[in-house]
Amino acid sequence: MDAIEAVLKQRQEEGLLRSLRPAAARKEGKVRFKDKEYIDFSSNDYLGFSGHPRLIEAVKEAAEKYGTGSGASRLMSGDLDLHHRLEEKVAGFKNKERALVFNSGYQANAGIISALYGKEDCIFSDRLNHASIIDGITLSGARLFRFRHNDPGHLKALIEKERGRFKNALIVTESIFSMDGDRAPLKEMADLKQRSGCEMMVDEAHATGIFGKNGSGVVEEDGLSREIDLIMGTFSKALGSFGAYLAASGKVIDYLINTCRSFIYSTALPPAVIACNIKAVELVAEEPWRREELLLNAEFLRQSLKEKGLDIRGASQIIPLVLGGNKKALNFAGALQEKGFFVRPIRYPTVPQKEARLRFSLTVDHKRDILQRLIDEIPQIGI
Ligand SMILES: *Cc1c(COP(=O)(O)O)cnc(C)c1O
Repeated sequence: MDAIEAVLKQRQEEGLLRSLRPAAARKEGKVRFKDKEYIDFSSNDYLGFSGHPRLIEAVKEAAEKYGTGSGASRLMSGDLDLHHRLEEKVAGFKNKERALVFNSGYQANAGIISALYGKEDCIFSDRLNHASIIDGITLSGARLFRFRHNDPGHLKALIEKERGRFKNALIVTESIFSMDGDRAPLKEMADLKQRSGCEMMVDEAHATGIFGKNGSGVVEEDGLSREIDLIMGTFSKALGSFGAYLAASGKVIDYLINTCRSFIYSTALPPAVIACNIKAVELVAEEPWRREELLLNAEFLRQSLKEKGLDIRGASQIIPLVLGGNKKALNFAGALQEKGFFVRPIRYPTVPQKEARLRFSLTVDHKRDILQRLIDEIPQIGI
């Protein structure tokens, strides 16, 4: 127990202690704590779907028809026609043969990678990949090689040096990076994959619903759905609900249904969540204005902040302002909060040491007038 106390104390001293912060309400781009309301730049509800009346309606209808819980795992008795309808929709949306629904993005990545790869295999993983990908690799027992962030040259060198010693090899990356908001060079990576006998997995958690003509993601936008073997994404961000999916070949899906522990040993998502996800995929097609407006607003905010001389990164609705020190990020977030903007400081180990930042997460509810207020306030804070 002494060791636990020491860790907490050290985190406190380094400005790395985290704590929970319950909100009283969170919707339409705003968050309320006790009596004070803020503009919320911390949510991944990019399309504002979590408050969409048609999704709320879908949730109510499904709860009334099927009840609140699914009662068992899919392979026991929790499997409903609804799950299959969603999987067919996702397969079409992602332009792959089949899809499988997972209970969360974390469970998907941890389960998929560890089911498909093992000790004789190797995995080439972008240095900034999400923790759930890292945990999947660790669980798999495969040998991990990390390549420099978004650097196909480094990936190529690693493949040339290491690929030959292993049976199967996977290249894995996010398409839009969660903490940097930038975009992976998928075409170059897919090209390398084809030439080197690797498989490739892309995590579209932050791209689903936003990029691509049909809003399916960056894989669609880059025309790579055939080349990418494993297209993973979530319903929990732009789609405003919960759960995740893998789109892949029928053979891979059948294999996972039989071997993937995070799929097999967990109760199926509630029917209301599945029904909500079905409707959310439909709404992505029906309301393209949401993603179009979001990306235009993101471009406006990014350029405006850059013009103020700030270290702004990214090429998406996620706009990081890199500040360096942990305490600086904490103080900056505090100052913005006093002005009515809620934005989370992101610190190690979520991002590398000395790269603490504020992560502005834009949603379609943040209209230009709100963004302009933010742009006007930021330089007065001083850094
Ligand atoms: C959020 C996220 C996940 C995890 O998804 P959940 O549904 O929240 O568990 C996985 N990968 C990336 C890149 C993410 O940003």
